[in-house]
Amino acid sequence: MERIARWLLERRNKGVLRELVPVERLGGGRLRLSGNKDSLPLWDFSSNDYLALAEHPDVILQSRNFLENFGTGSGAARLMSGDLTLHHLLEEEVARLKGCESALVFGSGYLANIGIIPALVGRGDVIFSDRLNHASIYDGCQLSGAKFHRFRHNDPSHLEELLRRQRGKGQALIVVESIYSMDGDRAPLKELVALKERYDALLMVDEAHATGVFGASGGGVVEEDGVTGQVDVVMGTFGKALGSYGAYGAASREMISYLVNRARSFVYSTALPPAVIGASLGALSVVKNEPDRRSNLKRKAAYFKECLKEHGITEDFGPSQIVPVLVGDSSRAMQVAKMLRSAALYVTAVRPPTVPEGTARLRFSITLHHPDDVLRNTAAQVARALKS
Ligand SMILES: *Cc1c(COP(=O)(O)O)cnc(C)c1O
Repeated sequence: MERIARWLLERRNKGVLRELVPVERLGGGRLRLSGNKDSLPLWDFSSNDYLALAEHPDVILQSRNFLENFGTGSGAARLMSGDLTLHHLLEEEVARLKGCESALVFGSGYLANIGIIPALVGRGDVIFSDRLNHASIYDGCQLSGAKFHRFRHNDPSHLEELLRRQRGKGQALIVVESIYSMDGDRAPLKELVALKERYDALLMVDEAHATGVFGASGGGVVEEDGVTGQVDVVMGTFGKALGSYGAYGAASREMISYLVNRARSFVYSTALPPAVIGASLGALSVVKNEPDRRSNLKRKAAYFKECLKEHGITEDFGPSQIVPVLVGDSSRAMQVAKMLRSAALYVTAVRPPTVPEGTARLRFSITLHHPDDVLRNTAAQVARALKS
């Protein structure tokens, strides 16, 4: 116990102890920090509910219907008696959205990544992972027992150099995100597909921040880049743009049968409950029937970047609804975030070790909740805080 107390104290003294901050969601993209009834409502720039589907009436209705018709829990793992027809309905819809033969639902994105990767590779095999991949991908790689190389972020020539030297004789897996969660930039999927074919590797793409947002029908960057048939496993989540919870892997029928048997986070975990499946199904119909949400989100993100530029903040913000504003120093980033909070803006300062040393930043997550005048004012407040 003394060790734990010492660890906590050290972290606190260094100012890097993470603590939970409960918030009260007020709807419409605003929140209040709990425990302070007088505090102002803040505009939330840290939520990944990009398409505002967590509050969409159709999504809520379908979730409620499933809750009332099928109860609160699924009762067991899928391979026991938890395999409900509605899980299959959702998997068919996901497969259609992703243009794949088949799909498999997982409890969360974290569980999908730590289940799929160790199913694909193990001892004697090798993984090539983008240096900025999400922690759940990293953990999946560690858990697999495969040899593990990280290539420079979005750098196919470094990946090729590693493939040439380290490919070996076993199975090889290349794993990337399509839209990176902290930088909002986009993977060069076509080049990665060419490399996976040249070096006989599997390719897995995590579309956590792209599903529902990119692609003509919301099928992600894989759809937009036209590489659907060439990616071995596309993974994505329901908890971000789809406003629900859980995750999926989409692939060939054969690959999905294999994952049903080999992905331990799928086999040994209770199936997602009906209300969550209902929300995900509701969200997929909105994504299909309301394409304007996607174009509106793109327009809002572009508008925000334009406003930042007008205020002299001119870095490369990338192509997505995730807009990183570089600050550099960690404590400075915290200070700027705090100043913005007093201007009624809630934005997260992302610091090392989540991002590389010296690249602490504010991560603005643009959603359909943000009115244009709020985006304009936010850009002005950011410029003011950075100058002070
Ligand atoms: C959020 C995220 C995950 C984890 O998904 P959860 O459903 O939140 O567990 C995995 N990969 C990436 C890139 C993410 O951003």
